[in-house]
Amino acid sequence: MILDKFRLDGKVAIVTGSNTGLGQGFCVALAEAGAKVLGVGRRDSEDTLAKIGKEKFDYMIADLSDPHCAKDIIGAALERYGSVDILVNNAGIIKRNDSLVFSEKDWDEVMNVNLKSLFFLSQAAANAMVAQGRGGKIINVASLLSFQGGIRVPSYTSSKSAVKGLTMTLANEWAKYNIQVNAIAPGYMVTNNTEALRNDPDRSKAILERIPAGRWGTPEDIMGAGVFLASAASDYVTGFTIAVDGGWLGR
Ligand code: NAD
Repeated sequence: MILDKFRLDGKVAIVTGSNTGLGQGFCVALAEAGAKVLGVGRRDSEDTLAKIGKEKFDYMIADLSDPHCAKDIIGAALERYGSVDILVNNAGIIKRNDSLVFSEKDWDEVMNVNLKSLFFLSQAAANAMVAQGRGGKIINVASLLSFQGGIRVPSYTSSKSAVKGLTMTLANEWAKYNIQVNAIAPGYMVTNNTEALRNDPDRSKAILERIPAGRWGTPEDIMGAGVFLASAASDYVTGFTIAVDGGWLGR
């Protein structure tokens, strides 16, 4: 039955940035589909735990500005749940400033979380998946700025464009281990990440007018794509970045 292919019973997922926003949406979606989920965040994920319950969710605190935490994260999932089948690289930050004065600090901070940690966590997860010998799923969170330039976000656009490219590289290398690597490019979603934009009346109005769906997205909107890419339903899909953007990129 096709709907059975979407089920994640018996699977173990790691989701970074699990305390809020889209990461919380991924945690809820994967757990509802049957997976056990280990959340990772800079701060506690008690709110997410309250939504899911401790049967299906646990969390750890780690700072992904240091890529060396990758091995600890994979180790924690193996210790708590015995395997790693799904990794969602969702944690991400954005810094806004004119490119003429953009600082090296804002460049490095964004690159470390959005790209460097994403790579080394994927590497550690893929090594565990190869050792387990039954494949796996890696889902990277990209952005519309994997396809477009944006304004005043040079490190963010660079990191998210690289995430799209890296998704293809890893998909090519790991297909032979039955590990599928894909990305989701969310459109403009109501989370902390877009608070500054939503508080700017001019930018906010311009963005809303350009979204064909006529509304901002929500964490619930990425749940379907998340479960699809985490499940056997997507076993022949790899290296692709799927936009969940209310039609933005098609316009
Ligand atoms: P958010 O700011 O609400 O969440 C970001 C998450 O990343 C939080 O859980 C935070 O704890 C985690 N995080 C940040 N730095 C970390 C660190 N050093 N160590 C560990 N965790 C860290 O924003 P969001 O919108 O939910 O963002 C989730 C992802 O979606 C990000 O990668 C973001 O770039 C991407 N995205 C968001 C939008 C949007 O419109 N909201 C659009 C495109 C892409």
